[in-house]
Amino acid sequence: MEIIKSSADLYAAYKEIAQKAADLNNASAVLGWDQEVYMPAKGFEVRGRQLATLASLAHEMLTAEPYGNLLTELAGRGDLTDDEKRNVVLSLEDYNKNKQLTPAFVEAITQQTSASYNAWIQSRKENKFSIYAPELDKMIALKKQQADMYGYDKHPYDALLDEYEKGANVTLLDAVFGDVKQQLPPLLNKIKQATQVDDSFFNKHYPKQQQWDFSIDVLLAMGYDFEAGRQDMSEHPFTTSFAPTDVRVTTRVDEDNYASLLWSSIHEGGHALYEQGLPIAQYGLPLGAAASLGIHESQSRLWENNVGRGRLFWHHFYPMLQQYFPQQLQDVTVDDFYKGMNKVEPSLIRTEADEVTYHFHVLIRYEIEKDLISGELYTEDLPETWNSMYDKYLGVSAKDDKTGVLQDVHWAHGSFGYFPTYSLGSFYAAQFYQQTAQEISSLNDDITNGRLTGLTDWLRGKVHQYGRRYTSEELCKRITGKGLDFNTFMQYAGQKYAGIYGL
Ligand SMILES: [Zn+2]
Repeated sequence: MEIIKSSADLYAAYKEIAQKAADLNNASAVLGWDQEVYMPAKGFEVRGRQLATLASLAHEMLTAEPYGNLLTELAGRGDLTDDEKRNVVLSLEDYNKNKQLTPAFVEAITQQTSASYNAWIQSRKENKFSIYAPELDKMIALKKQQADMYGYDKHPYDALLDEYEKGANVTLLDAVFGDVKQQLPPLLNKIKQATQVDDSFFNKHYPKQQQWDFSIDVLLAMGYDFEAGRQDMSEHPFTTSFAPTDVRVTTRVDEDNYASLLWSSIHEGGHALYEQGLPIAQYGLPLGAAASLGIHESQSRLWENNVGRGRLFWHHFYPMLQQYFPQQLQDVTVDDFYKGMNKVEPSLIRTEADEVTYHFHVLIRYEIEKDLISGELYTEDLPETWNSMYDKYLGVSAKDDKTGVLQDVHWAHGSFGYFPTYSLGSFYAAQFYQQTAQEISSLNDDITNGRLTGLTDWLRGKVHQYGRRYTSEELCKRITGKGLDFNTFMQYAGQKYAGIYGL
């Protein structure tokens, strides 16, 4: 006779598996963090193996048939709490999605990722796209296959996008990037015709220690908890989380360009506050994880751009910064500093772009990857298409492949559908920030005086505490009353640059 187990027992069994898989993934994250921050060069090969072992163990746990049966059984139970129900539904979705990929496919794409990545490194070294092209082509073929395995209604790209931004699709993105194409060029043209601002003070010598100390001051003011995190140096700044009680950020120091560390610390700080604000009681479960990449990016960009590149913020922080760098900044007024940090200038490299031109870089990648996945664009034609789009949207042309089509690692990793989330993050950030101004009456006064934690608390209440409960669009509607709306960003940017460039 089969004994029917109580829902509480079944839920406990589910939770145990999900949390053990999370333990494995978080152990991988510790190894990944170490690899970027401390690991000696010779550790590379064995570390790759260790990471692969942990990843495959976690994958096995989360795709095992009994786990799927457990979730299906639980999903049919009527006596779960709301939170429990939501976790089960989301975990079952994840399970079904994972199951659509055959083990042979997972193996193939894992191998192709390292082949494409190595080819990308090599082709950057020799500055030749042709070395990368055949491996990238194989990766694209696999991604098309993956989209078919997942299934989709309208566009194969939708299936890939879903991994990073659940609920988003080509229809939504075509609409928002259509707005970008229509509304952003007139603003950019006006700025181009205005007198350019001076940002040369960023390129003086700024000693490492003082840069570091100021970044810690800012992180503390934002409410980043150093007892549940730390900051280290790495080649590329990033945030990684092992649990809300251990969320780490990294940054990079360039003594001859101060802008580099300043923005990466505030940006990564925004990501880290989100991770520290996720509910620890939901550790390893969907409600304990971030909603989407777009929402993650909305948190980092809200802090970096709406707050950190805002005039109010520097009322309090600029005198502090001048104390760290009295010689470098003695002749730079706070207004000149503010204008310089917001300089708009079309350029070739996405990661160095300002708040306005940035979205053209993303738009170009979005249009290209959509066409690569649908088969309307061939890999071999990529450099030419890339260059003509940069010319069309930004009026700049790459000197070589390295400053052109070879600049991003994303496609080598198979991350098709990732880029749009960068722009979505900025647009959601503008909407959320506009909402804070309406809901926190003292916001401007608080920021002017360096009191930033009221904003952090607001974000905790509106975004962080919910984990994956809502999709990005649902979350945005709950917070602002409407879904993604490029006009709010446009309004914000229009006002900001009118002030800076005297438009
Ligand atoms: Zn980010």
